[in-house]
Amino acid sequence: MNQRYFDLEHQWAQLRERIAAAASRSGRTASDLTAIAVTKTFPTTDVEHLIALGFRNFGENRVSELNTKAAHDYAQPLTWHMVGQLQTNKVNHAVRSADVIHSCDRERLVDALERAAVNQQKQLGVLIQVRLDADPNRGGVAPADVLELAEKVAATSALTLRGVMAMAPREGDPASAFSRLQQVSEQLRAAHPGANWISAGMSEDFEVAIEHGATHLRLGRGLLGTRPYVG
Ligand SMILES: *Cc1c(COP(=O)(O)O)cnc(C)c1O
Repeated sequence: MNQRYFDLEHQWAQLRERIAAAASRSGRTASDLTAIAVTKTFPTTDVEHLIALGFRNFGENRVSELNTKAAHDYAQPLTWHMVGQLQTNKVNHAVRSADVIHSCDRERLVDALERAAVNQQKQLGVLIQVRLDADPNRGGVAPADVLELAEKVAATSALTLRGVMAMAPREGDPASAFSRLQQVSEQLRAAHPGANWISAGMSEDFEVAIEHGATHLRLGRGLLGTRPYVG
């Protein structure tokens, strides 16, 4: 173990304390939460350190980096999450490495994911990305259109509808956005009880997300530090 390992251990210990406190404030337990280490821009040696610290869930936002990192040989079986926007022409590559796609936000993408998963004889978890602000460049479907897209996922054979994902708006209070997401999740679960994941909360806002029902936290900088390049 080198200095980097001890740095990550320290960062994770601090985050874990904050996660536990936020969970207990909202009457939840930290063991109901899954921390996904978003390792984009960081090397596979960091993935190995995080495995040693107990992480089994890893996230990437670019298909090429996801493929490179997931192809590496690790000491443990891992779950890979594609958290970034996904272009239809990269779906085959994404499905090769990903276990869960967090960014499903249009019908064409559902069709492409289903086709790729069937071809690769793979069962793929899918979250509907919900847009909580007016910026179309960040992806996501409007809250009012979530159920219709979810039906489409549920009707496939190789995709498993897992729930919803969102990012807080860049400006403003994340609490109202995450509260909206929680409502969307409730509506979705009324029709699809198994679709109970809420992927929400990044390094800057995970406590607020926990207070609004997040089940899967996507932690990048708060865990790994400042990214070496923009990702
Ligand atoms: C990079 C990224 C994260 C992690 O963000 P941090 O602010 O570094 O914690 C989470 N979700 C998505 C979709 C990302 O692209």
